[in-house]
Amino acid sequence: MQLIARRYDTGLPVRVEIAGERLAGITPCADQPAERPPWIAPGLIDLQMNGYGGQWFCDRELTPEKVARVVHAMDAFGVAQFCPTVITESFDVLAHAMRTIVATCDQSPETARRIVGIHLEEPYISPKDGTRGAHPLQHCRKPDWNEFQRLQEAADGRIRILTMAVEFDESPEFIRHVADSGVVVSIGHTSAEPDQIRAAVDAGARMSTHLGNGSAATLHRHRNYLWPQLADDRLTAGLIVDGHHLPAEAVKTFVRAKTPERCILVSDLSGMAGLPPGRYDNKLCESEILPDGRLVVAGQRETMAGASLPIGTGVANVMRFAGVTLRQAVAMAVDNPAKLLKLKLGGIQPGEPVVLFDLDEQFEVRTLLLS
Ligand SMILES: [Zn+2]
Repeated sequence: MQLIARRYDTGLPVRVEIAGERLAGITPCADQPAERPPWIAPGLIDLQMNGYGGQWFCDRELTPEKVARVVHAMDAFGVAQFCPTVITESFDVLAHAMRTIVATCDQSPETARRIVGIHLEEPYISPKDGTRGAHPLQHCRKPDWNEFQRLQEAADGRIRILTMAVEFDESPEFIRHVADSGVVVSIGHTSAEPDQIRAAVDAGARMSTHLGNGSAATLHRHRNYLWPQLADDRLTAGLIVDGHHLPAEAVKTFVRAKTPERCILVSDLSGMAGLPPGRYDNKLCESEILPDGRLVVAGQRETMAGASLPIGTGVANVMRFAGVTLRQAVAMAVDNPAKLLKLKLGGIQPGEPVVLFDLDEQFEVRTLLLS
């Protein structure tokens, strides 16, 4: 099958050849298509997603089949590669999740290509309300290098990102160990003082996890943990641009401060994403999907409990909110995360995953072609 599409980076028309579910060829063409053709871009990369359709990665009953189902559910969103994100739990549940994700990759080379690493979002986070977000208090704990090494062993070395609070006395030394081991240390769910943020970055932290979320409702106007993260060019910011987690003005301000090159879009998809509105008695926290799609801690409407919209929504929103181009927005969901994890990108060509999509108000995926 052949069709005409437009390249996301140049806007120029290209003839796309598709064989089965693969890209077979792409050549520049001079034809002006009669209708508005779809856009073509590299498959998206999501560094933070917790599950989908009622399934969490952080689940004591996780099986390779359940992981594989979530992987395939990402096709509909144009997500070619991602980091399953495992959140605050007991050591046994975390280790089980690691081993199961490894087993899934061992069973299928295709899944192994799509799971580019595990994102361990904690358990070393602030126990404070607000900052902790929806994470259960009893499992928040201080950084422990021995425990982290045991988890990395269970993960067969696949943990690539560790989100952590950085206000503990042990933080700088722990961060040095983790960063030296090749894992990206990301600052998140923290209530650190500005000098503790600086010390964390000096020790090797390179990312901010969902900057502006997992944060207290009120902060000191000057001495808080946002300014130093915005100002430090060594930090790349993960942003949830679903229209609910951050107001448009905050997104614009963050993107201007960090520059588009230091921003990464993440979905932070909850395991409950894809379920209809209602109250869910989840083992991690009692949550509610509101009729407008927001996912909150049940019984109130302020504290978010994860997200329900895919990363492509962020591509469309960040163009509107921050005035960036399609090329820049896609880079925030492809090039920038790849650079952080040192992934090799092959561009738009056979052998590489690509996504065909429409973009009017929303990012509408037509198809994801895997390599
Ligand atoms: Zn979080």
